[in-house]
Amino acid sequence: MSNSHDHALKISDLTVSYARVPALHHISFEVRCGQCIALLGPNGAGKTTLLKTLAGLAKRESGTIHFHGREVVGATPDIAYLPQRGQIDWDFPTTVRGLVEMGRYLRLGWYRKYGASDDLAVNLAMEAMDLNDLQNRQISALSGGQQQRAFLARALAQEAHVLLLDEPFTGLDKPNQDNLKATLKRLRGQGKMLMVSHHDLPSVREIFDQVLLLNGELIGAGKTSEVFTGENVQRTYQTHVFSGV
Ligand code: ATP
Repeated sequence: MSNSHDHALKISDLTVSYARVPALHHISFEVRCGQCIALLGPNGAGKTTLLKTLAGLAKRESGTIHFHGREVVGATPDIAYLPQRGQIDWDFPTTVRGLVEMGRYLRLGWYRKYGASDDLAVNLAMEAMDLNDLQNRQISALSGGQQQRAFLARALAQEAHVLLLDEPFTGLDKPNQDNLKATLKRLRGQGKMLMVSHHDLPSVREIFDQVLLLNGELIGAGKTSEVFTGENVQRTYQTHVFSGV
């Protein structure tokens, strides 16, 4: 592929319902690779639903998703979803290397055999996430920060262009939060698109170039400097929760 900064993810008129109750109403926006995007909204706003739908893990009622001009139907290795920590079965018996290899299998499909180039991609992904010393460790025996790095390495091995992270900062201590911020910045510099559901409003300006303000419907989308205003945040949360915007 040419310049990955040219890649756009375009969502048009997306509606997602659970048992006929809409969680997302007629959402449309366009975001590009090489951007770090905050997905903001109160509990129940539909943030997880949006991320899962983009990853092909939740069914849409209507609407289309295009990535780089091509319609996305279901899951694609171009788009990786990193679930909230509480949603992962950490007892699943696999090592860090085994987890990262899974990303490779997602990219390979059924028709090509795992080979030396895949091993190389796994090595590079683990090195990028500083996991070399942990490759034989069971994922259940990792710290929160290490678990997150293992899932990021899986997304890198998968060669995903779009990384959807569901509340990755929640539960991390300060050093791990700083580490994650640096990782997001680095991946953005490499042309990845990072879309991150986030609850810590005071850190939005520091971390994110763009914001998506969601509360069932899309309240605002665009540059942080233009869209992340007190008025828009108030409309999104429907209460004055944060005065420092
Ligand atoms: P939080 O910040 O609390 O994680 P969220 O913004 O990620 O919330 P979602 O988890 O996407 O919100 O939920 C959006 C709405 O859809 C909520 O009203 C929720 O109760 C509902 N919902 C989510 N998952 C399901 C499901 N599997 N079945 C039925 N309703 C669901």
